[in-house]
Amino acid sequence: MPTALALELKDVRKSFGGIRAVDGLSLRVEAGERVAVIGPNGAGKSTLFGLISGELRVDAGDVLLAGASMRGVAPARRARWGLGRTFQSARLFAGLTVAENVELARVAGERGREGVGDALAEVGLGDAAPREAGALAQGERKRLELAMVLAGAPRVLLLDEPTAGMGAEERAAVMELVMGAVGRRGLTAVFSEHDVETVFAYARRVVVMDRGQPIADGTPEAVREDERVRRVYLGGGEMSAGGA
Ligand code: ADP
Ligand code: MG
Repeated sequence: MPTALALELKDVRKSFGGIRAVDGLSLRVEAGERVAVIGPNGAGKSTLFGLISGELRVDAGDVLLAGASMRGVAPARRARWGLGRTFQSARLFAGLTVAENVELARVAGERGREGVGDALAEVGLGDAAPREAGALAQGERKRLELAMVLAGAPRVLLLDEPTAGMGAEERAAVMELVMGAVGRRGLTAVFSEHDVETVFAYARRVVVMDRGQPIADGTPEAVREDERVRRVYLGGGEMSAGGA
């Protein structure tokens, strides 16, 4: 019996005015896959994530979760179905405690079957429950955001630059946390990432976007050798993150 793909994008398009942010992208992600989406700033990664989660509406094409079309399905319903996402900048209630933030996320997800404490312990914030979220350091915020999304019991996890702005050590710590949770829970994960070394360390599949289009899709090794990819990452030399 064929199993449905966890996530499928069919020729998805989204423009903002004259800018084709996502310009015909198709992608098939099997359950349990860990896919990194990379590309220069402005390539369309965050827009793509918004189209998958439903914060943005597709102009054309379709997003399918476990084989079901998400056309016209609101973000909250996608979340209840099991789509969890984090944003490039953590979205927290700064005036509430760490525990209250997770509780709110759990209620909003309506799939919450686990305790707030469990989710916090899983990200190493077990002792931080009574602290004010606004007082957390950046790495702690990311951990909290991760606890919030895990508390919703996701099946597919979308992480938009989960290590943005972090140094190497913190980046590795956060990725270990994320991938630990993904592995334990058997989740499907799609993450965008700036740091190429991080991508190579944590993804066996890399999709490269440029100007809204996928220009490569394969193993880190294959992608690194791809001529178009090398051209996008200026100079054709060492593949570095970011671009313009
Ligand atoms: P990435 O996450 O890869 O850096 P984005 O998806 O944020 O790229 O942006 C892709 C393109 O779409 C960029 O040119 C950006 O300026 C534009 N864009 C993104 N969001 C909006 C928006 N809400 N309104 C107008 N233009 C946008
Ligand atoms: Mg982005």
